[in-house]
Amino acid sequence: MAAPFTNLMRFDIPRQRFYFAGFELWISEFSIIFFALMLLMFIIAASAIIHGRVYCSYACPQMIFSEWSQSVEAWAKRVTQKVLKTPTPKIKKLAGQGLFYAVLLVASVFLAFVFTSYFIEPRDLLGRLLHLDFVTVGGITGATVTLMTFLDLTLVRQKFCTTVCPYGYIQGMLQDKHTLLVSYQDGVGEAKDCIECKKCVRVCEMGIDIRDSPFQIECVHCGDCIDACEDVLRKLGKPGLIHYAWGETPKAVALLEPWYKRWGFRDAKRVVILLIMTFYLVGLGMALSLRRPVLVEINPDRATMFKVLDDGRIANMIRFKLANRTGKTASVRLWVEGLPGAELALPANPVVLQPGETFERTVELRAPFAQDGQDVHHIRILAQSDAARKSDAEDMTFITPLKRK
Ligand code: SF4
Ligand code: SF4
Repeated sequence: MAAPFTNLMRFDIPRQRFYFAGFELWISEFSIIFFALMLLMFIIAASAIIHGRVYCSYACPQMIFSEWSQSVEAWAKRVTQKVLKTPTPKIKKLAGQGLFYAVLLVASVFLAFVFTSYFIEPRDLLGRLLHLDFVTVGGITGATVTLMTFLDLTLVRQKFCTTVCPYGYIQGMLQDKHTLLVSYQDGVGEAKDCIECKKCVRVCEMGIDIRDSPFQIECVHCGDCIDACEDVLRKLGKPGLIHYAWGETPKAVALLEPWYKRWGFRDAKRVVILLIMTFYLVGLGMALSLRRPVLVEINPDRATMFKVLDDGRIANMIRFKLANRTGKTASVRLWVEGLPGAELALPANPVVLQPGETFERTVELRAPFAQDGQDVHHIRILAQSDAARKSDAEDMTFITPLKRK
């Protein structure tokens, strides 16, 4: 929830910026965004191989807020039962539902605000919310997300995991024989400890019986059945029968395996994911190290080959694009090499750029006419920003007439 407000991760669609781990990236710096997102995706995939559905049970917002909404519903029921003394059970039930929906409505506005802040600057979004803006794209998006959040948390909840979400199916493909599972382990015949109380089935929001198999696609590894079974069997002085386990191999047997087998370092899937993650990590590191805080683009504008100015000098048109990608004011000094007496007709040199500002202009590069029998002169335009250690250099040509009329 804090990520969009701290710029830990946020896509600012109107400004076309991507904020990641304190970096403000421009949409033109797509390689960094690409490597960062691919790395994130493969970290989740690696976690799915090792820890199973740990993301579903402990990190997925859908699961967290679905469980929270159930708690609020139970709380609203309890409060109204306790506070309302006289009315009939029907009125108490209606009051409980009313309280639940009121809390969920406020929460939906807040959650939709957090979600939409990933794509629209939070202060800008707050302004739209306070003005009840249902006209702009940002306002309509916020209102739609609020409605969807409310319906999701009141009607859909965990049903989302078994109907819409593809993660369960992907998990089925990713897991291997060492993946963390929720597993039921009991003896057979007389040695069976299960008392068939079915509390593990009743508490399961996914509506499954974990005793049938640890590989059921509906199981999100929330661990509710583990707690339920422990609660029941503790009263009989016995340990619970459902546990988190690394693969199906019983713990005693698994401990006899060498460590590299237990960690699954010989499993092809794990090695491949590790190599892919290394590839994207190196790519991200390289893209970040090559990043230029101030973007400099210098190109000749050949719509006009050259101009003869009133004072007899020759001018070529040069297009500049300077963009300050930092959060501080930057200044860029520009100069020309290989052309004696050259002057850039900039409004100011150095060019001062405010944070996030882009300077885009076509200006004259003026130089005295040289009687050297050449119409093409090879020159170099350099730009040195105070935010960069190295200057940017652009080789190009300066075109003049062969003879002055
Ligand atoms: S909660 Fe435990 S004892 Fe009860 S049915 Fe489930 S596994 Fe058996
Ligand atoms: S079987 Fe247990 S761990 Fe799996 S979803 Fe149901 S309660 Fe959660």
